[in-house]
Amino acid sequence: MTQKSAKLIFWGVRGSTPTLERDTWRYGGNTPCLELKASDGTQFVLDCGTGLRMLGNRMRMLNNRWTEGHEAGGVEAHVLVTHYHWDHIQGIPFFHPFFEAQNRFYFYSFESKHLGRNSLRQVLEAQLASPYFPVDVSTMTASRSFREVAGGDSWDIQGTHVTTAWLNHPQGCLAYRLDMPAGSIVYATDNEPGVAEMDHNLRELARGTDVLIYDAQYSPEQLASTRKGWGHSSWLEGVKIARDCKVRNLVLFHHDPDSSSRTVDGFLSAARQEFPATWAAMEGMSMTLSDRGVDVVLPKSRLGQRRRIRFAATVTGQSEDGRTFEEKATVRDLSLQGAYLCLSSRPRLQSELNVVIEAGDHDSSSMLSLRAHVVHCEPMREKNQNGVGVVFIEEAEADLPRD
Ligand SMILES: [Zn+2]
Ligand SMILES: [Zn+2]
Repeated sequence: MTQKSAKLIFWGVRGSTPTLERDTWRYGGNTPCLELKASDGTQFVLDCGTGLRMLGNRMRMLNNRWTEGHEAGGVEAHVLVTHYHWDHIQGIPFFHPFFEAQNRFYFYSFESKHLGRNSLRQVLEAQLASPYFPVDVSTMTASRSFREVAGGDSWDIQGTHVTTAWLNHPQGCLAYRLDMPAGSIVYATDNEPGVAEMDHNLRELARGTDVLIYDAQYSPEQLASTRKGWGHSSWLEGVKIARDCKVRNLVLFHHDPDSSSRTVDGFLSAARQEFPATWAAMEGMSMTLSDRGVDVVLPKSRLGQRRRIRFAATVTGQSEDGRTFEEKATVRDLSLQGAYLCLSSRPRLQSELNVVIEAGDHDSSSMLSLRAHVVHCEPMREKNQNGVGVVFIEEAEADLPRD
């Protein structure tokens, strides 16, 4: 990371409740938690959903590595909480760094009219109260300070300027904008459009940002009918805001627990038709902001064993500049879960490829046709060749032959 770059990592992207179903694993099942390391090294945590547990383990590992040979180290982070619904706070009791005295945390959230003063402090204490948790809040030894903020506030945290806006969500919710020398992000989840003043304020907040992370829980059709009034939004509203505000990258976030990975794929491809610089938040995905723009890296997805091989295949898909391509390629390794392909085209991350593997004797009955999701793309040593990692897509039920 250069001096002027900031890194955003998604540790939880699922809305409402965690999911473990196999058909949700590609995007991930943990509830909202993002980590942001600003250009000056200041560490931010956005929301404390179940993804917070994994972030805590990683922070502890990095801090232990750093403290070897140093005097007492410690983690220091600024924790911005959007609201108090379970999916945004339920990781708190499982975040190890809260239980270590050398660490320091600065919390920010709003005063809830249901909880009164010190709302977030009360939430922390209530989560560790009997009989809900085996140890009480006295075991939470990290130093903690709390600041209550409201929509429209702005303040500085080291070299980062933070601004907030109220969102339209039951019991209230805050959106945060963080402006850093490396770029800006806006985190606006749990929002239902339709209240003119809040829609306007969110657009003011999102204007010109490099990355807008936005609630895209439902389809536009659900939002207009069965899910109206539930406090969430759709990819279509995200696209409208991104366009109105000249946002550089739109990230669809807070996936519905009942949305399979294929459903999220569908929302993403519909959104990309209208606003090409769209991504779907994925657990483990990172976005690095710098003067070169925003660089997206998707998490490692190799769960199964792979065999090195060389197969000829015909690959069709969409390249980074939006053109469609078809080419003969070599499959370098293969598992039923995914493959590593050698291509001259550079397919777009999170786009879909069709891979036809010509097994054996060119007899059409031995063709293996697979749909794949691009998770990795890097230049290879061979000139003009790209190594492309793909995960084969579980077929949607509707695609299976029915009798
Ligand atoms: Zn939520
Ligand atoms: Zn909520």
